Amino acid sequence: MFRNVPAGPPDPVYILKTKVDADKSPEKVDLGVGVFRNEKAECHELQAVKASKKAILEQNLGHDYEVTTGNPEFVQKAAAVLFGSSAEVIQSKRLTSVQGISGTGAIHTAALFLSRVDTLKDKKVYVGTPAWGNYEPLFNLVGFTVEKYRHYDAEKGVVDFQSLLSAISSAPKGSIFILQGCCHNPTGADLTKDQWRTLAKAMQEKELFPFFDMAYQGLGGSLDDDAFSLRLFTEKGFELVACQSFSKNFGIYGERCGVAHVVSANSDAAQNVHDQLRSLIRWEFSSSPAYGARIVTTILRDSSLTEAWSSELSSMRERLVVARRDLYEAIVNKRKTPGDWSVLLSTTGLFCFLPLTPKQTAILGNKYHVYMLGSGRINVSGINPSNVERIATAIDEVVRSA
Ligand code: PLP
Repeated sequence: MFRNVPAGPPDPVYILKTKVDADKSPEKVDLGVGVFRNEKAECHELQAVKASKKAILEQNLGHDYEVTTGNPEFVQKAAAVLFGSSAEVIQSKRLTSVQGISGTGAIHTAALFLSRVDTLKDKKVYVGTPAWGNYEPLFNLVGFTVEKYRHYDAEKGVVDFQSLLSAISSAPKGSIFILQGCCHNPTGADLTKDQWRTLAKAMQEKELFPFFDMAYQGLGGSLDDDAFSLRLFTEKGFELVACQSFSKNFGIYGERCGVAHVVSANSDAAQNVHDQLRSLIRWEFSSSPAYGARIVTTILRDSSLTEAWSSELSSMRERLVVARRDLYEAIVNKRKTPGDWSVLLSTTGLFCFLPLTPKQTAILGNKYHVYMLGSGRINVSGINPSNVERIATAIDEVVRSA
């Protein structure tokens, strides 16, 4: 039956992770997969999450199925984090929020839904490059064609806003634009507030459909700052999709916890959208994973835990700023390594694109045990005080020789 099944497409993140896991050297530095690491290079568990798990254990909640669309308290609280607790879209019941299997699953459910909506199903999906590697396959999977434009100007280390605007001006009415609201993966280069305002105006004029991917809220400026773009678009009256992941900002990657939000023009439409999403979830995975949602709800329900979570997020942000600055200092000030390393200071969030060639990144892994994607994308939280000099030395030697 399966003899003629071809091999699947390679996944650079998966290949890198396998390589890193197989390297047992104490010198190993993992700047690959996008998980927030603490100063001991461990996948960081938040104190608020620890406290929440303890409270859940004491309640002995059992293992019954959740409601198909996710625990109602969970999705409401998730919506308040993303849109703001007094958001008009929540008050007017124009917002439909359902749990997804983390951010990826939320994007899939929302994309599947759009692929069945008459007014959107034949539209193209626009993705800025370089992009998170999953967008194209996720949208292709449900039948959409993906168009690409340049998101990032690698020479200047900033968003190529002109390229985005020209994609907007050439896109047919109703086209779907994937927008990362903050902490762009893989570049760490976000639009400025003014650029978001210009973009909103241009998209409104062209009647384009925004599809927000919100995977890093709280790791850029602040919880509210990082939601600026999405809130601006909702205040301007767009109908839109926003997919929210709790993997990074709660550090609960393996629990697969996220939410798909759809903003409709009125509450009747939102009710029907809810029914459609409920059916798709029922047919695809029947009911959402409970544990991650319980962790998040327990924190968001308790003001002191919410406060603890929010202040921990701010320390995580601070760590990312310090790690960027330390590596910059070690490369530029101490070693005078050739090249322009200012992206380390100008980008935000978990990621940054170092100006390295695929050949140089391969040598960094194979010879120096310093691992990153071939594109030069690094997970900034992999840098810590005990490895920053080693990383800088390795980069310096490789840049000078290869
Ligand atoms: N969107 C972006 C841009 C991401 O980087 C990720 C994860 O790396 C996701 C969505 C989805 O994450 P998850 O499915 O773990 O919630």
